[in-house]
Amino acid sequence: MINIAIDGPAGAGKSTIAKMLAKELAYVYVDTGAMYRAIGYYFLKNGVNSDDVETIEKELSNINVSIVYQDGEQQVLLNGENVNGVIRQEEVGKMASATSKYKAVREKLVETQRQIAREQNIIMDGRDIGTVILPDATVKFYLTASVEVRAKRRYDELVAKGEACDLKEIEKDIADRDYQDMNREVSPLKQAKDAVLLDSSYLDIPQVVAEMKKKIMEKLS
Ligand code: C5P
Repeated sequence: MINIAIDGPAGAGKSTIAKMLAKELAYVYVDTGAMYRAIGYYFLKNGVNSDDVETIEKELSNINVSIVYQDGEQQVLLNGENVNGVIRQEEVGKMASATSKYKAVREKLVETQRQIAREQNIIMDGRDIGTVILPDATVKFYLTASVEVRAKRRYDELVAKGEACDLKEIEKDIADRDYQDMNREVSPLKQAKDAVLLDSSYLDIPQVVAEMKKKIMEKLS
């Protein structure tokens, strides 16, 4: 099976780019962040504090996360219920980031993610795909962009939706999330040694997609 890994910080454009690339290559796109968000959503809904590791570990046995595809779109099921509509909220992202640092939380998803990659040609994005989940991936990418560029993109998205927001606050949230993801003990976000580094501060989306496609084709030829 062909396994393409894309890692990088929040807001670098991973999911948009991975989706486009998956469509062009007719591979399945797997968004692993959505799985951590589903777990984060469970903790939020059940009033579990992100510092309470004991309760978190206990609650994990009550959580089942799986994915299915509807019209080519990934749907995340939390204990059988489709939670796609609720996991994009900012507070769910924060909870996902605060709880994905625990070993037990990560162990809950490792095997599910590896199994998905064994079954079909995939493009999987996340934080630890090239380093931990798929160390033998066919091609690995590390997609980044400066905090300022990522914050401005998020700001423009929110403004377009008519939501009130503050650019400096968004910058701070992004920097905090980066810090949390890059400095945790288990599976921190980092570039795998054999990953191709791309910076979307200087490249637009079609340019990144084209660059990735070129690298994949070189590898497969
Ligand atoms: O990518 P997304 O913003 O949806 O991910 C939410 C959070 O889930 C991230 O901030 C990160 O803490 C966690 N995550 C992770 N490993 C992955 C994917 C996401 O730790 N492979």
